[in-house]
Amino acid sequence: ELDQKVEEAIEAFTFRFRADKRDRNARSAVNEIDEHQIEQLKHRGIPNKGRAIQDIVNELVDDIFAYGVRTDHPRFFGFIPGPASRLSWLGDIMTSAYNIHAGSWANGPAASCIEQELIHWLCQQAGYGDSSGGLFVSGGSMANMTALIAARDKVLDERTLHLGVAYVSDQSHSSVMKGLRIIGIPSHRIRTVATDTSFRMDSLLLRTAIEQDLAAGLIPFAVIATAGTTNTGSIDPLRQIAAICQEYGIWMHVDGAYGASVMLSLKYRHLLDGIGQADSISWDGHKWLFQTYGCAMVLVKDKMDLIRSFHVRPEYLKDLESDHSHANAMDLGVELTRPARGLRLWLTLQGLGSLGMSEAIEHGFQLAAWAEDELRKKKYWEIVSPAQLAIVNFRYAPADLSEDERHELNQRISKSMIENGYAGVFTTELHGKKVLRICAIHPETTESDVRNTVRILNQYALEFHDAVKR
Ligand code: PLP
Repeated sequence: ELDQKVEEAIEAFTFRFRADKRDRNARSAVNEIDEHQIEQLKHRGIPNKGRAIQDIVNELVDDIFAYGVRTDHPRFFGFIPGPASRLSWLGDIMTSAYNIHAGSWANGPAASCIEQELIHWLCQQAGYGDSSGGLFVSGGSMANMTALIAARDKVLDERTLHLGVAYVSDQSHSSVMKGLRIIGIPSHRIRTVATDTSFRMDSLLLRTAIEQDLAAGLIPFAVIATAGTTNTGSIDPLRQIAAICQEYGIWMHVDGAYGASVMLSLKYRHLLDGIGQADSISWDGHKWLFQTYGCAMVLVKDKMDLIRSFHVRPEYLKDLESDHSHANAMDLGVELTRPARGLRLWLTLQGLGSLGMSEAIEHGFQLAAWAEDELRKKKYWEIVSPAQLAIVNFRYAPADLSEDERHELNQRISKSMIENGYAGVFTTELHGKKVLRICAIHPETTESDVRNTVRILNQYALEFHDAVKR
């Protein structure tokens, strides 16, 4: 009886989802929830007897999924959006429905084969050779930490761990520092290298920091470069950093959670020149590869570096042993039981083809360029960081306002846009300036979406100008 009810609920949900998605895209990019609604949610509790499934499905759609920032909305431009493709969604629900254990070849041979072949293809895009490998993981944070564990274990051991030093930039993502802390590198062993005016790691300062640490008897073990920083989309000078890492025997990791996808763009892949020299790369599927959440990759130049860190074989897993050409996913990362996260990306790439994916990624570059172009037509808008990858940073900065007033004004502009719901435009800080930021990677966002967004921001700027002037 329960099975029958679930079947009916699946059909009803599929119907509701399609209608809801159309509706949501027509409506706002942000739907805020109030405290009263949160209180109601908190007190739902768990019933003693099971409830009617259709009621629960409706409750999920109406009271839970309806709220929050819609990171997959064509005018959601905050953080890094998550414009999940329908193809990924299909791959995700199919993978969940079949619930394959993809931790080992023995349990899920065909799924493991497809995941590994896709990893191989992605490694080739990075310029990696046959000894490379990698794994699908839950996100960029996990990918970064997985790579940093491999780096630690390659260069340091239990005796020298306390001497290990890692190098990041002032634009590195917080997940890198978090990962380092978790794997036993305290904050006083993390050097933050300053960036230049284009927010790229200054390689001269990196070299100086490494030499100082060596002179102090410490052991530089990892440099974390970023390909596509979260704030501005800047790409660190990968070739220069790689040369320094090679000279001093340091592991080079590239956090490409956001920007590594540019490797799949025929037009712009040259921007990531040198990425193949890194020892490891993080790459999010759930950002610029249009995947549902929980899909990312960690790639390594030498697969053995992951196996060294993650292979364990207690007596109850001995039946799952396989050779390295059929490496078990559980031997390449933290998880034992894991879903075949790569299948949704495989389905997406099969459906779009590599050319379709290339074009979808390139659209983001165009969107950011349109936003910048519209801003340049308007008075008093300062472009703080020009369109890079799909990100542009700017602020309204008329000469008659003080820095504090500008700060307040731009914050108010963002807040009003979010309340209005037309577009999700949030703030960040660059060189001490409060700026507005647009990151536009949705393949369905149109030129008028971005131009209108800028026009509305400009209207708010004019409207609030006098109010903030003291
Ligand atoms: N690295 C960069 C550059 C990012 O932009 C992000 C997320 O925005 C991450 C790492 C963390 O990735 P995730 O949120 O998938 O864990």
